Amino acid sequence: NYSAVGFIGLGVMGFPMVENLYKKLPESVRICVFDVSKSAVEELSSRTNGRAEACSSSKEVAEKSVNAMSAHQDPQDVVITMVPEGSHVRSVYLTPDTGVLATDLSNKLLIDCSTIDTATSLEVADAISKQYPTASFYDAPVSGGSLGAQKATLTFMVGCAESDPKFPMLQDLLGMMGNPDAIFACGGQSLGLTAKLCNNYCSGLIAIATSEAMNIGMKSGMDPRVLAKVFHASTAQSAICDKWCPVPGICPEAPASKGYQGGFKIQLMRKDFGLAVDAAKRVGVELALGEKGLETYTAAMNDPRCKDLDSRVVYRHLGGDEH
Ligand code: NAD
Repeated sequence: NYSAVGFIGLGVMGFPMVENLYKKLPESVRICVFDVSKSAVEELSSRTNGRAEACSSSKEVAEKSVNAMSAHQDPQDVVITMVPEGSHVRSVYLTPDTGVLATDLSNKLLIDCSTIDTATSLEVADAISKQYPTASFYDAPVSGGSLGAQKATLTFMVGCAESDPKFPMLQDLLGMMGNPDAIFACGGQSLGLTAKLCNNYCSGLIAIATSEAMNIGMKSGMDPRVLAKVFHASTAQSAICDKWCPVPGICPEAPASKGYQGGFKIQLMRKDFGLAVDAAKRVGVELALGEKGLETYTAAMNDPRCKDLDSRVVYRHLGGDEH
C-alpha cells in the first residue's frame, strides 16, 4: 500500500507548504508532487532529500496519493492543489487523460487551496462528485502570504460547515501548513473562497490607502519609520502596515524591503480584486471603492516598474519615494 499526500503547484506558496508537510508528516508518508515547471519539482525533490517524488502529471499525483492520513480512523487519500487561477485549476482537475479526474477518485479527499472564482470551483466540485460520489472536494484558500507559507502560520478558509465529518481531518492536515487555530469552516461549499475574496478586497484597499497615506506624510517631510509607528499605535494600524509595509525599509522581512521580490504578485492581487468586484455585482452589493481599486491594480500590474513584483509595489506605481 502506498501512503502518500499529493501536491500540485509548487510556486511561491506551494513549495514551502510542501516543505512543511515534509517536516511534519510521519516519514512513512510519501509525498508525490507535480508542477508544469520541471525546475520547481527538481528543486523540491533535492531540498527534501528525494522524499518529494516527482510525478509527470496531475493524474499521476492523484494515482499515487493513497492512504495518506492512515493514523485516522478512515485512511484517506489526499491531493492538494495550489495553482494561480481558475483556468489552471480547471486544467489540473479536468484535462482529459492527464488531469486529476482521469484516475479513480473514489473516497479521495481533494483540497484546492488556490484563490479562484467560486463558479469554477463549483464546476470542478460538480464534475468530481458526478463521476465519483464518494470523493470530497473542498475549497480551502489561504491568507498569510509567502512568509506565512514558509513559517507554517497560514490562515485557511475552508468551504464546509463546522459540522462536516471531514473537518477535523482537514484541520489536522492543514494545521501542518498553517496556524491550527486559524482554520475556519466558512459554512459550505465555495464559501472559503468567498471569505478569501472579501479578505483580499479589504487588504488590497488597505495597501493602496497605506501607500497613499505614507506618501502624504513623507512628501510633507515625515520619517516613514515614525509614521509607521504612529499607524501601529493608532487607528490606521493594519497587518499591511505592521508586516507588509509597502514602503521599503520599514519591515525588514517584507518584500518591499527586498526589492519587492517574493510575496504576493501584483497580477494575483489584480485577479483577486477583480473576482471580489465580480462577486459584489453578483450579490448586488454596491462598492464605493471597487472600480477605483481595480483600475489602480490594473494600471500597476501593467506598469513596467511593477511587473511580476509583490503587490505592495502599488506604492511605487502611486509615486512613492524609495530610499
Ligand atoms: P505562483 O505563480 O508562484 O505558483 C503557481 C505554481 O503553479 C507555479 O509553480 C506554476 O508552474 C504552477 N502551475 C500552473 N499551472 C499548472 C498546472 N496546470 N499544473 C501544475 N502546476 C501548474 O503562485 P503562488 O503565489 O504560489 O499562488 C498560488 C495561489 O495561491 C494563487 O491562487 C494565489 O492567488 C494564492 N495565494 C497566494 C499568496 C501569495 O502571497 N503568493 C497568498 C495567498 C494566496
